[in-house]
Amino acid sequence: MTLAVKQAYQTCHNSEHNILLDVRTASEWKKGIPQGALCLELSDINDLAQSKMSKEQCYYVICQTSQRSALAIERLKTLGFVNLFHVVEGYQEWLKQDFPIEIPNIDKTEVRYQRHHQLKGFGRKAQDKLTKAHVLLIGAGGLGSSSALYLAAAGIGQITIVDDDRVSLSNLQRQILHNTDSIGSLKVDSATKQLSALNPEIKIHGIAQRLNPNNAPELIANVDIVIDGSDNLKTRYLVNDLCIQFKKPLVYAAVYQYEAQITTFDFTNKHSPCLRCLFPQTEGFEPDNCSTEGVLGVVPGIAGVWQATETIKLITGVGETLCSKLLIIDLIDNSFRTIKYFRIKSCHC
Ligand SMILES: [Zn+2]
Repeated sequence: MTLAVKQAYQTCHNSEHNILLDVRTASEWKKGIPQGALCLELSDINDLAQSKMSKEQCYYVICQTSQRSALAIERLKTLGFVNLFHVVEGYQEWLKQDFPIEIPNIDKTEVRYQRHHQLKGFGRKAQDKLTKAHVLLIGAGGLGSSSALYLAAAGIGQITIVDDDRVSLSNLQRQILHNTDSIGSLKVDSATKQLSALNPEIKIHGIAQRLNPNNAPELIANVDIVIDGSDNLKTRYLVNDLCIQFKKPLVYAAVYQYEAQITTFDFTNKHSPCLRCLFPQTEGFEPDNCSTEGVLGVVPGIAGVWQATETIKLITGVGETLCSKLLIIDLIDNSFRTIKYFRIKSCHC
């Protein structure tokens, strides 16, 4: 049944049983909604109608013009709602005729993650998993900068960052989590400030210590996923061994000059190969790092973003990860190679 805004206003104004249902988007609601209306985006109807609406009540469905409200009614019918009325003139006409409006108190979380909610194959379910996740980031340097920024933006509920270093001028060519004002500060303090400014809804725990065999077990045992953003093999092997022990997925990346290597060890799967299977430890061998051989500033940025992507995929179960595959990106010739590797029988993992 269709009706004009005037009838809708009169019907809903005096009755709690009759409810205006605004199916426009959150960005439109910010400018105003019909007074007392229930807000539910068209794209959320399948997921949220059952929890936000009651089949006992009558809904007067409104959008800007009348197209989305027509679609909303079709969807609600398939969900078993029957008491539906189409306000054909829409909110445009509601404003023109000067019926009362209000600025709703929109859930900011809802708006912040709107693009994830809309994303096919992702949606609220995946976003909820991110909110509940706790990630340990080892190192707030080049890799940690871009991974932390994207993980904070994505709404990972808790990020613990462990790093004992202070920001120096030569870091700023690639470590975009810090800035010129933070030179001399602890990297974890600078990181906490930046990430909290980006997303105040999440918790950042900064640990100003170097990861070592004493502090690492507790840190790793308490999180869901570990991201290795360290720059030395000793730490990498320590993290690898503890992640195996505590069955925590480990997202690995390393950079060298123009090249980035990324892989994931999913130790929730007991058949997963480990870092020692991929790079058997050679006593006393320490390859050159950024401080001696240089690195193009964007390389750790790209690798860190890839680590963030792997982490999001592991948490949500969306898509395929780089388990048992080493991705090698060479920015000199824009080449992407993926090398498969296997568990070594003699390895203790
Ligand atoms: Zn192994």
